[in-house]
Amino acid sequence: MKSKIIKAYGADSPKSDLSEMQITRRDLTAKDVEIDILFCGVCHSDLHTARNDWGGTKYPAVPGHEIVGRITAVGAEVSKFKIGDLVGVGCLVDSCRTCDSCKKDLEQYCLNGSTGTYNGQDVHLGGHTFGGYSESVVVDEAFVLRVPENLDLAAASPLLCAGITTWSPLRHWGVTNGTKVAVIGLGGLGHMAIKLAKGLGASVTLFSRSPEKIQDALDLGADEVIISTDSSQMDKVQGKFDVIIDTVPYVHDVNPYIATLAISGTLVLVGYLGPLEPVLNTVPMILGRRSIAASVIGGIAETQEMLDFCGKHNIVSDIEMINMQNINNAYERMLKSDVKYRFVIDMKSLKV
Ligand code: NAP
Ligand code: ZN
Ligand code: ZN
Repeated sequence: MKSKIIKAYGADSPKSDLSEMQITRRDLTAKDVEIDILFCGVCHSDLHTARNDWGGTKYPAVPGHEIVGRITAVGAEVSKFKIGDLVGVGCLVDSCRTCDSCKKDLEQYCLNGSTGTYNGQDVHLGGHTFGGYSESVVVDEAFVLRVPENLDLAAASPLLCAGITTWSPLRHWGVTNGTKVAVIGLGGLGHMAIKLAKGLGASVTLFSRSPEKIQDALDLGADEVIISTDSSQMDKVQGKFDVIIDTVPYVHDVNPYIATLAISGTLVLVGYLGPLEPVLNTVPMILGRRSIAASVIGGIAETQEMLDFCGKHNIVSDIEMINMQNINNAYERMLKSDVKYRFVIDMKSLKV
């Protein structure tokens, strides 16, 4: 298959900094669009992948799955988009489209394995897929989203992962007017969870380890902040929440949070991937019909629904814009939870 060489930023090994490199993009097939990438959000999953935290990273690794840009070319059979359209690409660029999950618009749970925007299997060129820390990307139109025109494009890019990852569980667990929601961790996902849950009419509490974030959380729309290391504050919210969205990226004790669930409440893990420690105590779960669940991103139709909702309610991410060349420093700051509240790369910086 013919292809074109473009500039990208990626890691050659788990220990190496990200640096400039060249990658190939396929020539357009009939259903493909080519997108000139304008902005790309920086997700904690990018860092986990670049550093092989989860195992299975293929190198070179070019992260980035919060992509917004403009269409520069379309294949012969593209019907949804035209040259010049402003569009987004999130965490998925393909799936089998025939399994039960795909038929239910749950491509993220494709039974034959969906294709990640990065570190997925590239069926066109062989090897693995490369993400949005790059000049352009070629994607089947079925996996391309429309970004509402009224939103600031850079600030909209984190909706493509942080937005949908928190939207999907909020919707699945029926969050609506008056639902009592709590969010654990005020980072990229956490701050979007607050905004989206408020948009849905919920009352929202933030659990944070960081007292210096209290005012920001209230400004973002939270009704209340509980400092999770303060047991007297934790005591105040026992039995309170219908839904908790847990965005913490590293292993942590979820037992204190289960105690804050109402009867029949659900704690949804979206951050940490791996065995929980310390062990779960089932007593409060059994005696209160409380659940622990988990969730990964969202399907394409649901992502469009979330983008349209954000367009209507004027919801975007709070961002710090960086140049591509500052990505390694941004990763170090993200590890210290020192970002308000999502880094977004101005991709112009890669093109100069
Ligand atoms: P982030 O911006 O770094 O935010 C994570 C927040 O969690 C921090 O701001 C901090 O908030 C809290 N935190 C960090 N380390 C902690 C620790 N050791 N113990 C307790 N709290 C801690 O990260 P993100 O981009 O939001 O991503 C969060 C996680 O979700 C990552 O693991 C990422 O890979 C994952 N993720 C999952 C999906 C999915 O589909 N399920 C999609 C995207 C990302 P406070 O300072 O307020 O405590
Ligand atoms: Zn992500
Ligand atoms: Zn499928």
